[in-house]
Order: sequence, then C-alpha cells, then structure tokens
Amino acid sequence: MLICTGGAFAQVKKKPAAATAKKPAAAATTAKPNLLPVDPDVYIGKLPNGFTYYIRRNTEPKNRAFVYLVDKAGSLLETDAQQGLAHFTEHMAFNGTRDYPKNDLISYLQTSGVKFGADVNASTSFDETVYQLALPTDSAKVFERGFNIMANIAGFVTFDPKEIDAERGVVLEEARMNGKNAEERLQKQTLPVLLNNSRYAQRLPIGKEDVIKTFNQATIKSFYHDWYRPDLQALIVIGDFDPKQVYQQIKDHFSQFSNPTPEKTRTEYAGTTNPGTVVKFATDKEFQYALVQIVSKFPQTKTKTPDDFFRNLRVNIFNQMLNARINELTQQRVPKLLFGQASYGNFTGRQDAFSMIAVGNSNGLEVAVKTVVGEAESARKFGFTLTELERAKQNALLQIGNAYKEKDKTSSTSYASQYLQNFLEGEAIPGIDYEYKFYVDNIGKITLAEENALAAKFITDQNRTIIVEAPESQKSNLPDEKTMLAWIADGAKNATAYSDDVNTSPLLPNLAPGSKVVSMVEDSILNMTKLTLANGVRVQLMPTKFKNNQVLFNGYSLGGTSLASDHDYPSANLAGGVVGSSGVGNFTQIQLDKKLAGKDVNVSPYISDYTQGLSGNSSAADFDVAMQLLYLYFTQPRKDNDIWQSTISQTKSLLSNRGVNPANVYADTTAAVLGNYNPRAMTFTTAQLDAASLDKAYAFYKARFADASGFNFTFVGSFTKEQIIPYIEKYLGALPADHHNETFKNLGIHPPSGQVTKIINKGIGDKSAVQLIFSGSYDYNDINNIQLDALESVLNIRLTDRLREKESDAYSPEAGISYLKIPDGHYKATISFQCAPENVDKLTADVMDEINKLKQSGADPKDIEKFAAQDARSLQLQLRQNIFWAGYLAAADQNKENPDKVLQHIQNLGDVTPQTTKDAANKYLSGNNLIKLILMPAKK
Ligand SMILES: [Zn+2]
Repeated sequence: MLICTGGAFAQVKKKPAAATAKKPAAAATTAKPNLLPVDPDVYIGKLPNGFTYYIRRNTEPKNRAFVYLVDKAGSLLETDAQQGLAHFTEHMAFNGTRDYPKNDLISYLQTSGVKFGADVNASTSFDETVYQLALPTDSAKVFERGFNIMANIAGFVTFDPKEIDAERGVVLEEARMNGKNAEERLQKQTLPVLLNNSRYAQRLPIGKEDVIKTFNQATIKSFYHDWYRPDLQALIVIGDFDPKQVYQQIKDHFSQFSNPTPEKTRTEYAGTTNPGTVVKFATDKEFQYALVQIVSKFPQTKTKTPDDFFRNLRVNIFNQMLNARINELTQQRVPKLLFGQASYGNFTGRQDAFSMIAVGNSNGLEVAVKTVVGEAESARKFGFTLTELERAKQNALLQIGNAYKEKDKTSSTSYASQYLQNFLEGEAIPGIDYEYKFYVDNIGKITLAEENALAAKFITDQNRTIIVEAPESQKSNLPDEKTMLAWIADGAKNATAYSDDVNTSPLLPNLAPGSKVVSMVEDSILNMTKLTLANGVRVQLMPTKFKNNQVLFNGYSLGGTSLASDHDYPSANLAGGVVGSSGVGNFTQIQLDKKLAGKDVNVSPYISDYTQGLSGNSSAADFDVAMQLLYLYFTQPRKDNDIWQSTISQTKSLLSNRGVNPANVYADTTAAVLGNYNPRAMTFTTAQLDAASLDKAYAFYKARFADASGFNFTFVGSFTKEQIIPYIEKYLGALPADHHNETFKNLGIHPPSGQVTKIINKGIGDKSAVQLIFSGSYDYNDINNIQLDALESVLNIRLTDRLREKESDAYSPEAGISYLKIPDGHYKATISFQCAPENVDKLTADVMDEINKLKQSGADPKDIEKFAAQDARSLQLQLRQNIFWAGYLAAADQNKENPDKVLQHIQNLGDVTPQTTKDAANKYLSGNNLIKLILMPAKK
C-alpha cells in the first residue's frame, strides 16, 4: 500500500537497513588500530591540488563504468542573493561548457548511446552536488571523453547570459512540477519547526522564485568560483576498466585546477535542537490523510570504529523488531491505523533521530497515535522477546550473507553511495569481507538487555518535535497541543507486553505424488530447456551465471479477472491480493513471516485482467521452501476473514478523502476515459467494496488455480538442469490438473475512438497537466514494435528540445508508447507534460507541430542514430540480467513468440530510417483517435 504523505515525511532520510560502514581515506595510511579498515579493493587518493579520487574495478555490469563528480557545495553555502543557484549551477553544467557549447553535451552523449535521465543525471542537496554518468568502456574514445566532460563541469561552465535566461523557465517549471501542491504547502508550515529554524530550513535546494527569475551572471559565477574547487571535489569511478588507465585520465584532466584565492571558508552547518517538546499543527485543503510524526533528535553518530559498526548492527536489529510488531497491527481485523513506522537513523542536518509515524484510518488519529506510541513503549517497558531477537539476527545474517555471496556480482552503482558517504561524511568503508566476518563473529553476542536498553534510550520527550498534518476539513477535530501530549502519555501508559504468536508445525505436512517430465526440447541458442510434465504443466528453464545464488521464477495461465462477471468483479479483483496476504496452509501471514525468518524466499500469487499466476525468488539453499510455498498457494490458500475485513476497511480509508487531491482526480479521470468508462477501469467506490465478499473472492481464486495444466513456469538463475528437475517433478508435477483449457475473455476495454477532449478543473495550485493520447488497433510483431520504440525515442528527443530547451516552458515533457497483443493487438502513445495554466494551448500546439514535422519529413537521421545507440546499449545490459530473462521468456510464451529473436534485435535496429519513422508517425499519430486530458486549476 503506497501512501502519499506530507512534506515533513519527505524530509526524513531513512538510513539503509543494514548500515554499511565507511572510513576516511586518510586513515588508510595512518591505520590506527581502533579504526575500521578500508576496503582493499578501492584505490583512494588525492592529486597535489587536493582533488580526491576513488577508483574501483568491478565487472558488473560488463563493459560499463559509472563516473560520479562530487562537489561538497550545496544550497547551505548560498548567500541570500544566491538562493537556488547551487541547483541552477547544476543545470548550467549541461547548458554550455568550454568544450561543449549550448546543448552539445547531451546530444553528444545520446549519440554515444547514453540516455539522458537514466545514464546521465545530477542532483543538488543541502551539502553537495553530484553529477553522474554511466559510460560504455568497450569504446575507449567514449569512455575517455567522460573524463573530459566531468572536467568541463568541474571547472569550465560558461554561464552564457543567454543560456541562463533560457534556463530560468526550465527551473521554474521544475519547481512547479514538484511543488504547488499540498505537500509543499504543508512543508512550508512544518519544516521551520521540524528543523528548528536552522539554516537547513532556510535553504531548500530549489531556492526562491524571485532569485531564479532575476539573478545575474555575476551572482551565479561567484558561487561557482567560490565552491567548485579541487579541495571540495572528488571523482568516483567504478567499473570494468584498467584502474591504472583511469588514474592517468584523472591526473590528466583534473590536475589543472587550483583553489581560488582568497579561499572562502566552507562552514559546516548542523541542525539544532530545542529542549523539551514542540508541537506543530498544519492543515491543507488538498491533503488526504491525518498523520502524526514524532521526532526525537540525537547527536549524529558516524561509523569509524568497530564499536560504531557494532552499534549500527544493534540499531538495525532494534528497528527490525519494532517494525515487525507495528506491521502486525495493520493486519488486524479492525486495524488501528492506516500506516505506522518507528525507527532510529540519520536525520537532516547532521543529526540522528528516533522517528515514529502514525497515519490514521477511519478509526481516527487518536487511536493511530496511541497505538504506535504504545508499541514503542511496550518495547521499552516490557522489552523484546528472545524469539524476536533470534529472528532479527537470522534476517540480518541472511542479508549480509547474500551480499557476501554475490560480492563478485555486485553492481557498480551499489558501491557509489558508500564512497559518496565516505567522501562527504567520513563514514568508513571496510568492504564486504570485513562486514560479513564481523556479523558472523559478533551477532551472537547481542543480548536482549542491550536491545531493550536502546528502546529506553531512543524513547524520550527531550529534543522532541511533534508534527501533525491533516486535511483542512478535519481542522476542527484536531486535538490541541495539550490533548496531543495526553494522547501520547495515554498510549504509553496503556502499553501491554507483546506476545509472540509462533507456529512451529511443518510448512507442508502432505504432498501429493509428483509426475515426471514427459517431453524436453532444448533451445541451444539461448541455452534454455522447455519441459512438459505428465500433469500438463509446462516449464522453461534457463540456467545462468549472472548471480551466484539467485533463482527467479514465475508461472502464469490465461484467464484472470476477465472471467468474472461485472457484478463479481470487485471480489475477483481483490482476490489475488487478499489471498496473497492471508498466509498459507495452517499458517497465518504473521506466523508465516516468522516461519520464513532467515530464509531467502518470496512467493506471491496474483490475478490480473487476463492472467493469473505467481512470481517469486529464492536462494539455491531455500529453493525447496520456495517450491513448498508455490505448491501451497495452489492447493491450500488460506481464507482469512480478518485479512479480508482489514483490506476492505483500509481500502475505504484510502478512498475516503481521495477526491481532495487534484492529482488523484486527474489520474482517476484518465483511467476512466481510457477505459471508456467501463466500471473495471475505474477506481472502486465504497458501494462496490460493500458488495464484495470473501466467499466470492476465495472461490474465484481457487477456480483460477485449480488447473495447473494451463500454466507455464519460467525458472532463471543459478541452478543446473539436473539439479532443478527433481524439484520440478516433485512439486509442480504434484499440482492438480483437470485439463479444461481455460483462457481469457476479451472484454474489449480500449480507449474510445474518435476525438475526446476533457478538461478537469481541480486544485488551488497554479499548475496544469496535459496528456495527449493516440491509440488504435495494432498488428503486434517485431517489425512494428521496433518502429514504435523508435517513434517513442525520437518524440522524446524532439519534445525535450522544443518544450524544454527552446520554449523553456516545461521541465520534463515525455512520450511513452506501449503495445499489447493480449487481449487483442492495441497500441497507445501518450505525450504528457506539466506547465503553467496559461501555456497549455501554446505547448499543445507545439507538440502537434513537432508531430506534423515528423509526419512530413520523418525523423532526423541523427535522432535515429541516438535511438539505435541507446536501445542497443540498454539491451546489452539486460541480456546479462536474470530479471530480464524471467520476464522476457514468460512474455514470449504468452505472446506465442520465438524467444530466440531477441538476439536479432540489435541488427534489426538498422531497419529504422527517416522514411519508416515518417510512415509510423502518419500511421500511429494520425490523430483519428486522439484523447486530450487537461488538468486546470479550479475555477475561482
Ligand atoms: Zn533541476
């Protein structure tokens, strides 16, 4: 369940669950005995001018490198006149440097197969600005140019006044897109309190609108001059390359810079705390939920020594145990809250915090607050149990064990954040060998008393801020400060000891006899095997070496909710989700989660519009458990009335205020129009939920999983055919099958034909959203699919160029084209952008103008070259990922396609020419079927 939350929420930075520890570079040579070691696989050093570098060779993914330029300058260093210019500088880095005037940088990268947004990106925060680039290393020319690009950003941004003026609109549109909503308005009220009026509250990276509109070249140049300098910069390079060559590149490109004279002192700002408790209430007309956030701040802890590392491990286990308890509460028959969370971790402003969040449901905010507070207090007063501690330890060991086993298959990007924190905060980076050994050697020493002591330390009414956010309509029902404090006190007073509900019986006591493989077809091109079992179950096996210890699987058959009557549709639609969270066999979901502690296994069933099935993953060691679960979801799904009641009531709570948020109204209207107002395409109503029943849902689920002979299963990952077949015969071979050849029913739910324009007037913010949707029936095949992919890519380049770069009136215009074969061939091309309400007509006309140009002359050959380069590069990566193959092989079977064709794909990219894009534009963007959906502010 995804919950949209208020501004304060967004500011809480969550620490990664398993705290990875890091260490400063200097310590590598001084090696003080009580400091954590530095990962021996990373080269860290400084050039004579103070520029820092991190170099690590890593071959996953192959032929790729990830380059990060970090500058320890963010919005906190801005003067009053510069508010927003750290972020604006980041934008200017892509709008003119010494060697890449104007937009040439992006264009050059795109031609090399690098995708804007995915492979090249940047971000600005309070303390730092980070630029990132994913590059191919099989082309030395492209890879080496990457260093030149980063050097241009580090020292040669031109800040051409014309380019500055053109970018003002883009940044204002970025601010409009991410803001002018309930979250931003709430944040304006709560952030100064949450951050205690520290500099963090006054320096949000997006800055001030009037500064962005009026600042001059000298003001932004002075920020760049003062803070883009070698002693504050680092280059982090991780990937498939020769480290010596990379070092040479760094030396060649970054030695030329020197610090400015005079050198400004970089002040390190920290958040501040208030003694005692401060309470802040904030409401907004368009906010959907009532929530309370209770934050107790503590001094920042950094990880430098083994003791620090051990502390992180204890905190990790504490967070796990407490949240497992809170999670149980949302599964009760009458849930006391919509969402709850409590954890200790990093907090904005170089501080730590213990943060609790409670979101109310129809039972009200009071119950939610008292429940979360009561749960934390229960841990403090009565402590955790030994069984809870044991499970948390097993889960922590599982996590670190997985990372250790995959250490030579770890993606380069996952190292980047560790090195960033090492550079920025001096956090230790001992490396996975050390971390794994540390866990194994020390986790057993953690005692209940220590964990209980953490609860006593974290739960405090000192340095505490309480933020209450709610819909404006609930303003009169909100407590005052005194009442809020009384709720918290009551919640604590009434805390009760936790009782651990554990089921120790075997997961699967009885298994029907299996059946043997009756046919086997080898596909030597893909190294894949297709099997059929005696009970009719079909299986695709693809052993790979992309991971050391991962098996991914899925299984599907045709049918889905298309087989339910309109009347029974709501029950059918809820069936997969409800059964999937109701446990299995004799185990409730809570008991099942506990039974699976320390096991690397996930299996979940689903029922979608036209199919039903399961998907899951496991380690090699836990594969047997995964197969037991799969068998149980077919043969012994649980019917749990508590989970049903809970789901209905939580869904109602989610719906109750849904209409106050303009983004929801726009999304719901879009879905309704595109589904031609078929009730199945529309958001549920309370009446539909009331009419749904568990009996119907459960019966529908059972019927969908009654006949395994219609199922095709795909297994991809670290196994051999010989190892896996006995399990397949034992479990999949034992699935019931009555061979009734079920398939889906085509309900003909498609976007309406002809022209439809719908304007939705909703919302108080000065913002609009536009979608132009072209659709129609489609002959699904490889040749057409590639043409649509090309059209999408070319449209994206053109629309960005026109709406963002030329007009400066939109931040991220997007084109997305999808095509389907099931239930019948259909395509949908969606162009969407957000903008100022007064620009809607003009930008819509601009989009149509770009489409008309495509129809008249086809795509620019350069744009086709960019598409082909990017598509080939991203496929090369996908072909080495289990997750790609698991999805691809299942889809190929569903669409009755020969999976081998994927190997022809890159060659087929050559079929795209200006003429074919012209034909595709005329055929698919004719405008015969065109839906325009426009969100405008509410009429005053
Ligand atoms: Zn930006």
